[in-house]
Amino acid sequence: MHDDIALTLGRVTRVLEERIRPAIHSVSVPFTVDCHELLGEPIAPAQALGLEYTDYRIGTAWGAAWGTTWFRLRGTVPAAWAGKRVEALVDLGFDTNLTGFQCEGLVYRGNGTTVKAINPRNQWIPVADPAAGEESVEYFIETAANPVLLGHHPFQPTAEGDIRTASPRKLYSTRRMDLAVFEPEVHELSLDLEVLLELQAELPEGPRRMRILQALDNALDVLDLQRISETAPAARAELAEVLAKRAGESAHRISAVGHSHIDSAWLWPVRETIRKVARTASSMVEMLGYDKEFLYGMSSAQQYAWIKEHRPEVYDRVKDAVASGRFLPLGGMWVESDTVMPSGESLVRQFHYGQQFFREEFGVTCAGVWLPDSFGYSPALPQLMKRAGFTWFFTQKISWNQQNTFPHHTFDWEGIDGSRVFTHFPSMDTYNSQLSGSEVARASRQFRESRHATGSIAPVGWGDGGGGTTREMTGKARRLADLEGSATVKWEHPDEFFKRAKAELENPPVWVGELYLELHRATLTSQHRTKQGNRRTEHLLVEAELWCATAAAYSGFEYPHDEIDELWKTVLLHQFHDILPGTSIAWVHREVVAEYARVAQAAEAIIAAAQAALVGRGERPIALNAAPFTRSGVRTGAGTAVAELAPVTETVTATETAAGFVLSNALVTVAISRDGLVTSAIENATGRETIAAGKEANLLQLHQDFPNKWDAWDVDKFYRNQVTDLRELDSISLSTDADGTARVVVERSFSASTVRQELTLAPGSRVLQIEQSTDWHETEKFLKVAFPLDIRAEHTVAETQFGYQKRVTHVNTSWEAAKFETSMHRFVLAEEPGFGAALINDSIYGFDVTRDSTEAGVMTNVRLSLLRAPRFPDPETDQGIQGHRYGLVIGADIASATEAGALLNSPERTLAGAHGFDPLVTVEGTGIVLSSVKLAGDRSGDLVVRVYESLGRRVAGTVNVHRPVERASAITLLEDPIEGPGGTVEHSGGSVAIALTAFEVRTLRFTFKD
Ligand SMILES: [Zn+2]
Repeated sequence: MHDDIALTLGRVTRVLEERIRPAIHSVSVPFTVDCHELLGEPIAPAQALGLEYTDYRIGTAWGAAWGTTWFRLRGTVPAAWAGKRVEALVDLGFDTNLTGFQCEGLVYRGNGTTVKAINPRNQWIPVADPAAGEESVEYFIETAANPVLLGHHPFQPTAEGDIRTASPRKLYSTRRMDLAVFEPEVHELSLDLEVLLELQAELPEGPRRMRILQALDNALDVLDLQRISETAPAARAELAEVLAKRAGESAHRISAVGHSHIDSAWLWPVRETIRKVARTASSMVEMLGYDKEFLYGMSSAQQYAWIKEHRPEVYDRVKDAVASGRFLPLGGMWVESDTVMPSGESLVRQFHYGQQFFREEFGVTCAGVWLPDSFGYSPALPQLMKRAGFTWFFTQKISWNQQNTFPHHTFDWEGIDGSRVFTHFPSMDTYNSQLSGSEVARASRQFRESRHATGSIAPVGWGDGGGGTTREMTGKARRLADLEGSATVKWEHPDEFFKRAKAELENPPVWVGELYLELHRATLTSQHRTKQGNRRTEHLLVEAELWCATAAAYSGFEYPHDEIDELWKTVLLHQFHDILPGTSIAWVHREVVAEYARVAQAAEAIIAAAQAALVGRGERPIALNAAPFTRSGVRTGAGTAVAELAPVTETVTATETAAGFVLSNALVTVAISRDGLVTSAIENATGRETIAAGKEANLLQLHQDFPNKWDAWDVDKFYRNQVTDLRELDSISLSTDADGTARVVVERSFSASTVRQELTLAPGSRVLQIEQSTDWHETEKFLKVAFPLDIRAEHTVAETQFGYQKRVTHVNTSWEAAKFETSMHRFVLAEEPGFGAALINDSIYGFDVTRDSTEAGVMTNVRLSLLRAPRFPDPETDQGIQGHRYGLVIGADIASATEAGALLNSPERTLAGAHGFDPLVTVEGTGIVLSSVKLAGDRSGDLVVRVYESLGRRVAGTVNVHRPVERASAITLLEDPIEGPGGTVEHSGGSVAIALTAFEVRTLRFTFKD
């Protein structure tokens, strides 16, 4: 036979696109439309329905950026349509290639109840099935004129990302608002053809593919292009046989779950996400009614809480659907947060508040953590997931790696403490599946565990900006349920998938350590004020809980549960994976900075009230310490009258020399050159030099930083090739503070920016602290500060949640070479046997390390990442005054680096009072760190104490509560009792003996005697 494959494919493609799809709605009549345009913020639907509406003509431009236009559609179903299925069709001016990233709308009936959403690939509204004829129809559509910011020319700087700078130009023109007859057989025919067309493209040239091609030709041979709806059944009959052929017994099994990954803020502000979530949820509960097999999963308690507050009517429908087991709460977190930067306590609260919401609202406890899209995953997570009661973890993002292909799809992921969590990445490589033939084939072809396991997960639906699953996708799923040549597709709760996968994989492969994303490395630095706000507020809230719990136990202070919960939830929302990483529009970050200021102010007020209750009224200066290490003689959680503290007798000597300045105390001696660079930092006891010979530390380095894509997200490796060392000096001066601290002030100017650094050495401290204020006016630059250390470190040791992670300093393999920018929390340590140095910070998350060769040997150059200046999506990213505090710890090990980092982040407080007070909780045991002291979330008045092992080794110790204790128990991170032997805890006078393994996190509950 002659080869007619190309001819058949061309024929099917053209007829499908030009004739069949347009015939799905056969006849239509236009609505009478009027509208009311609102600039600025949206209003409540009930209010909107009562507005004055004015005439609107289809095709007229509408919608300035971020405005809301309410359209009213009125019409009458023609009598001739009686018995037909009638729908409304609305095209707001959509670009069907950009679903979720432009205008969209939510449809209401005249009584204010919602129908469903409309978006680029979902333009229909159900009207009547079957129609009676002559019924009058009225709809209101709340349309949002969200501007396209990531369109056909992505990553262009734009002022449209903030309502304050957006242009008043109208962005969209409607194309149609009609009543129309829906032809079910034509719709089904289009899906039959699409599925077969996509399937054959993935098949080898063999009998199955040839039979499909012939069936496609046969179907079109009987289709009359002038009478499509009448002849569609005959065409479908020609396809029935090839569609009835069943999948092979070894076919890959796809566990599909309807989904819409909705970013809690990104290229839209939080207020728009509130509406996005309501739109998608209303469409999805509607969809559940059309397909009884379909299941829809939605994560993020915050998003449910928004629907509850802002669209209670939609929430009722969601609640019913959850109760029927078809709308699945997923993930058990408050939001899909970043997991690299939030503190340990923050991640615990993500789980705690998330699961608390799902339990209270739906009686559901999520079994797994659902994070398809965050930018890399901390190696502390496996333990935290396990201790919060989760049994599985789902993500996808690592398939975006620039360089290395991750070797597993279903595996055990082992964290820093040795905990393992059963993990799955969909082999389809997407969290926005459309169930296309290529996606389905890819899932099967790429799946790495096929030797032992049978399937993978597919989250199906439009995501990022919302939309969810369409009827075309559910139609495809029906056809792919059991089809020869394809993987099988079944709607399934991810819990069911994980149960089966666990049974199939008796010995799953194991991945140890962080799941580093080889992309989006600059998210550790972009939008510095957002990072700073996160670090500051998460420390303030832990401190507020400590003082409130202490005051409640000692003086009956009323613990402000509601207020603390609300503040935590605000901080948790802003840890969302496009907010804390600094990748949202200007509007989002402007609001976030204001919210952090509000949270900080409220937390300070709570702290002040609790502290006042603890120290009483008086005029004596009392020093209080919230840091988990004794500071200047004040124990953790204590207040001590300053007069009772040992007076400071140590001093700092500061001298000016020809070369510069020398600052020296009992522990260390630091030399600062005339141009403000640190040329020497010696530990006095050993005489050991910290700075590499001939090198200078505290060197600010400015790089050109224009990545190939994703400006706020990415720094590409070549950024290192263009660098300017900032040596030019405006001024330098030396002074000594009243407390003996020596201070060198350095001022510099470069291009349009200025920077002022205060280098200080305090008596009795081995930290050279640097307080930096930068007036930053750069474009596409990356500012680093370098510390070339005379240390031959095999690893860096960087703090993560409840411990640290080690990364090798060499780049032997592509995996290590890809980690050219990595994360830390409050410290990074470089150490060789016998000596180490650490860099600590109060708001920095990114750093890089190079292993440089000098004449003296290999040294370790550690550079902190301070500021960037990307122009997309926020064209003004980080412009203006920016503050950083960091320091060099001269002669450090893991314990002293942990301590120095914690102290820097929990500043001293002194206030006037009558008396000091002892800590409510003390901890004994080398390396055991007190992480949290709070009252239980169940408001029972019980005390919750969390500790962790910080040094990476086994330790025995005690946790002591200094108030009469009735009962002690071990609890989970959700504050649930631990069943079995692990939950029973003996106490003796409020003291509990504990034995911790490396990095173990332990949470205890204490009930007080009344
Ligand atoms: Zn996302």
